[in-house]
Amino acid sequence: MNTEVSFASLDLAPAVQRAIEEVGYEQPSPIQARSVPHLLAGRDLLGVAQTGTGKTAAFAWPTLSRIDLDKTKPQVLILTPTRELAIQVSEAYQRYAGKLSGFRIVPIYGGQEYGGQLRQLRRGVHVVVGTPGRVMDHIRRGSLVLDQLQTLVLDEADEMLRMGFLDDVEWILQHVPEQRQTALFSATMPPPIRKVAETYLTDPSEVRIKAETATVEHTEQRVCLVRPVDKLEALTRILETENFDGMLIFVRTKNATVELAERIEARGFTCDALNGDMNQSARERTVGRFRSGSLDILIATDVAARGIDVPRISHVVNFDIPYDTEAYIHRIGRTGRAGRTGKAITFVSLREQRLLRAIERATRSPIEQLEVPGHKQLAKHRIEAFKQQMQEILSGDQELDFFRKLICDFADESGCSTEDAAAALAFLQQRKRPLQPPPDKKKMKPQKPAKPVKADKALPRTPDSELERYRIQVGREHGATPGHIVGAIANEAGLASRHIGRIQLYDRYSTVDLPHGMPSQVLRHLKRVRICQLPMAIRRDDGRPSEARPGGRPRRDKPRHDKPQHDKPQHFAKEAAQAR
Ligand code: ADP
Ligand code: MG
Repeated sequence: MNTEVSFASLDLAPAVQRAIEEVGYEQPSPIQARSVPHLLAGRDLLGVAQTGTGKTAAFAWPTLSRIDLDKTKPQVLILTPTRELAIQVSEAYQRYAGKLSGFRIVPIYGGQEYGGQLRQLRRGVHVVVGTPGRVMDHIRRGSLVLDQLQTLVLDEADEMLRMGFLDDVEWILQHVPEQRQTALFSATMPPPIRKVAETYLTDPSEVRIKAETATVEHTEQRVCLVRPVDKLEALTRILETENFDGMLIFVRTKNATVELAERIEARGFTCDALNGDMNQSARERTVGRFRSGSLDILIATDVAARGIDVPRISHVVNFDIPYDTEAYIHRIGRTGRAGRTGKAITFVSLREQRLLRAIERATRSPIEQLEVPGHKQLAKHRIEAFKQQMQEILSGDQELDFFRKLICDFADESGCSTEDAAAALAFLQQRKRPLQPPPDKKKMKPQKPAKPVKADKALPRTPDSELERYRIQVGREHGATPGHIVGAIANEAGLASRHIGRIQLYDRYSTVDLPHGMPSQVLRHLKRVRICQLPMAIRRDDGRPSEARPGGRPRRDKPRHDKPQHDKPQHFAKEAAQAR
C-alpha cells in the first residue's frame, strides 16, 4: 500500500475530490495512486492490476477532472466487455460526478432498444461507455460522432479478448481521432493485449501492481457467501455464535464504520467505530479500551486499523471484502498474533467471487466456507449462554437471599409453584433475544440472478458433436455478421465464445451451433435480444423454413458460400474479421 499518497496530493478537480470525500474512501488504492498522475497529464497508459483493485476509479477520476462540461460531443469513450460492466462503470462515473452539475454519461450495449440510446446521444453527452459491438453500430450509423474524443479507455481488456471482441475493439481504435489519449486496463496481459497496446498506445506509461503474496498460516480463513442485504443479519448471528475475544470488523468507508456500529449496538452488542476522521487522542482512547478488554468489537477502515497490534484480536471480519489482496493480507495480519491462531471471516456476494479467488491465489491457501448459523444453532447457543449466566451467578458471591424470598413470596401469593415462577422469569429475560428463534424463512445465501443467465456455468464443456443447431431470424440482408451473433450470444447469455460453434449466414436468417441443452430461460431471454435492430427470435433449427420478415426481396435461403463462414469456434475472431 502507498501510505504516502492522499487524495489531496492527486490533483484531481476539486469537484471530483469532494465527491470522493462524500463516498468516504480514505485513500487511493495503489493502481489509482499511480495511474491518476499519468492520466491527468494526458499520457497514454497501460494499467495492470487484478480484479477489485479499483481500476474504474483510476480512470474515472482523472477523465472526469478533465471534462469540459460546455461541450456536448463525447469526450471520453470507455469500452467494456459486458453490459453489466458498462452499467457498473456508468454508475461509478455518476457517483464521482455528483458535484459536476450537468454531467451526462450514456451506457450503450447490445440487447437494448436503440431509441433511448439515440435520444441520449443526440441530446449531448460527455462520456459514453459501451460494449464494442453496439459502439461499432453507433459509429457506423453516424449516431456516435467521436471527432471531439479526448480519451479512449479499454476496460477489462483481457476479458474483451476472452469474449472474442478484440477485432471490434481494433476496429473502433481505427475509427477514433488519432490525437487522443488511450488507456488500457487489464487484470492480466496476454500477448494479444500486449500487441494491441504496442500498436495503438503512444509511448504509454506502464503501471503494474503486483499482488503481494503472503503466508497466512496463523490464521484460519473462512468465507461466508451472503447477499449484501443479509450481511448485517449474518454478522449478528456470527457475533452470537462465534467464540471470540476481540473482534475487528472491516468496512470500506468511514461512514460505514459509524453506521455499522450503530446498527450492531441496536442489536444489543457493545462496539465502537475507528476511522480516520477521529483525532489521534480519540483513536488512542478507543484502541486502548479494545486492548484492555472493556470493548470487544471494533469496526474500522483499512487506514484506521493499520498497524494496530492488539494481541487479544481473535477474529477479523471482512464485512466489506477488501478491494485488493494486499489490504486483505494487512487486515488478517491483525489477528493470529503472539503465536495464537486467529480467525478471519470474509463476506462475499456473487459479484465479488472473482475477488475471492484472487485472494485465494495471493494467500496461497484455500478458504473454507462458513454457513451462516441457522435458527437451531442460534437456539443452542442462546440456551447454553443462558444456563451459563445462571450458573455464574449461583457459583459467584452474589447475595441472593432477597431474590429467593421474592420468588417464594410470589409463588405463595399467586398460588403457583416456584418452578412456574422461574419459568415466567426466564421467559421475561429472553424476550428481546428469544431462546427459541423462529425458523429461517429463507437461506441467506446469494441466489443466482434470474437474468441475464450465465449459461456458461450451467454447461459442461461440450465437444462439437454435442452441439445443437439454432436458427436466428437475422441474416446477411439485415446486416448481420458473425461478430454480431457471437457478441449478442456471448454478452446476453453469458456464454464464452469458445462454446459458440459454427455460424452460417444466409440472406434472411443465420444458424449457430450452441451446446446441447441450453437452459430454456437463456433461450427465452435470447429470443428478445436484438441484432441489427431485429429480435434474434432464436429457436432450435428443425429444418422448417424461416418466417419471412416483412419487406425486402424474395427469399433466397441458401448460403452464398458453400464453405461455412466459420467452423472452428476457437478461430472465430480471425474469421469473423475476414467475413466482414
Ligand atoms: P476493478 O475494476 O479493479 O476490478 P473496481 O473499480 O470495480 O475494481 O473497484 C472494486 C471496489 O473497490 C468497488 O466496490 C469500489 O467502489 C471500491 N473502491 C475503489 N476505490 C476505492 C478506494 N480508494 N477505497 C475504498 N474502496 C474503493
Ligand atoms: Mg473493472
